[in-house]
Amino acid sequence: MAITLHNFPEGLATFFSMLDSPGIGAPLAAAIAIHNIPEGIAIAVPVYFATRNKWYAVGASLISGLAEPLGALIGYALLAPYLSQTVFGTVFGMIAGVMVFLALDELLPAAKRYAQGHETVYGLVSGMAVLALSMILFKW
Ligand SMILES: [Zn+2]
Repeated sequence: MAITLHNFPEGLATFFSMLDSPGIGAPLAAAIAIHNIPEGIAIAVPVYFATRNKWYAVGASLISGLAEPLGALIGYALLAPYLSQTVFGTVFGMIAGVMVFLALDELLPAAKRYAQGHETVYGLVSGMAVLALSMILFKW
């Protein structure tokens, strides 16, 4: 549920960054697309093991993924008349806050419940390294 919820602002952030600056939006969209692969797996695998139904697992992952374009659509429908650099900055800041909150309040504690050692921290640091590397590769 937390992953699906974060997909609404994620889709909006990706869409707005593309509107604001395609030079930044396109690499961001590529990065989001890449990170959606493990995210989809993170949804499908537990759902599969809970239900033993692969179609339910794929469906849950698909519905979660569809929250991204839906978030972009709803956000754009609400904010299109007011688009400006101030609105972009405000929306990006709010979305960053939502992402940090979800990660710290929902995802990390949930990951920690299933970890048996330092896997959660290793995953966190690895994710940060991948982000840093992708920022270098895309020269943000
Ligand atoms: Zn995501």
